[in-house]
Amino acid sequence: MLMDRDEVVGDALCGGFLSWRSAERLGVVGLHPRELGGHAVTSLALIAGEREATGPLPAPGYGLSRRALDGALRARAVADGAKLVIDRARAVRPGMVEGEARDRPAETIFFATGKHDVRGEARPREAKDPALGLRVRLPANQRLQEMLHGRIELHLFDGGYAGIVLQEDGTANVCLALRKSLLAEAGGNPRALLDRLADEYSLFGERMASAPADLAVDSVGSVPYGWIARDTAPGIYRLGDQAAVIPSLAGEGMAIAMDSGEAAARAWLDGEDAATFQRRFAARALRPVRTAQLVWSLAERTSGARLLTALTASAPVLARAAMALTRI
Ligand SMILES: Cc1cc2nc3c(=O)[nH]c(=O)nc-3n(C[C@H](O)[C@H](O)[C@H](O)COP(=O)(O)OP(=O)(O)OC[C@H]3O[C@@H](n4cnc5c(N)ncnc54)[C@H](O)[C@@H]3O)c2cc1C
Repeated sequence: MLMDRDEVVGDALCGGFLSWRSAERLGVVGLHPRELGGHAVTSLALIAGEREATGPLPAPGYGLSRRALDGALRARAVADGAKLVIDRARAVRPGMVEGEARDRPAETIFFATGKHDVRGEARPREAKDPALGLRVRLPANQRLQEMLHGRIELHLFDGGYAGIVLQEDGTANVCLALRKSLLAEAGGNPRALLDRLADEYSLFGERMASAPADLAVDSVGSVPYGWIARDTAPGIYRLGDQAAVIPSLAGEGMAIAMDSGEAAARAWLDGEDAATFQRRFAARALRPVRTAQLVWSLAERTSGARLLTALTASAPVLARAAMALTRI
């Protein structure tokens, strides 16, 4: 049984960048991002102030909206025999998912509510100034398409970053992870914050120039970057963001979701209990998550961002090593 709260697959807040590893994993279940219309991405551009450094990705990644990806995955699961149930889980405990419509007893639960916590299984939020996610979609525009063709851009700001990549329909997905205090400084108004960043960082401003006045801004609060589940309750296999939350600038969250799903399925088939699976997955997630945290802590400081762009330009081998070390 596949239970999801949403009848219609939405466009989850996400950078919309599928890493080469995520693309590989999708291939295993017979889905290819190119066939889903994904925009092939072959290079990474790091932009800090006026400085820009570009380097090749180890293999092509893809710009693909979550609506397209999640829709294809759901359809695939249903075609393969999963029974889709639309209900919102209010609480999860061993042997039981409490849904809004009704309770659903389940011997095994693969728990994957992503950014959203559920009673009984909430992740601790300890950061003093937590990260929040913002996302806007810029309409398809020829100038923007020329600027962004074949690349993913990471614009590094004091207190966060924006990832920009073209999606399958030619729109540009602009997704930001920022410290909450920046939003507070902008009076709690996400559009005012985007306008401020566009004024302050001219290359980001160039990309945002085509933003319409009524631009919709999606947001998600308090993302527990760096959190890793080391244990779990009996029969509850935690997957994806419920297993490990890698700082999003690594572009590896979806690979962690797919990898943990596959590993949990194998563990269950082999009769491995949930706690053992969780410990083993935590050990595997440690290196990519900690490396991404280190990069994120550098990237969100002006001096660190300059250092990262300088290193990417002068020693591309280091950028490639960081890309490799942040893969699950
Ligand atoms: C700002 C930002 C940018 C990011 N950019 C990227 C990127 O470019 N590339 C990348 O690989 N990763 C990125 N990530 C990370 C990525 O979005 C997540 O790691 C990934 O989506 C986790 O997958 P998941 O399956 O665990 O959860 P999700 O993708 O969040 O899916 C959760 C599912 O559970 C359902 N659900 C939620 N609550 C309930 C409930 N109570 N009951 C029933 N169903 C429920 C939802 O409808 C959804 O279908 C980004 C994250 C952030 C915050």
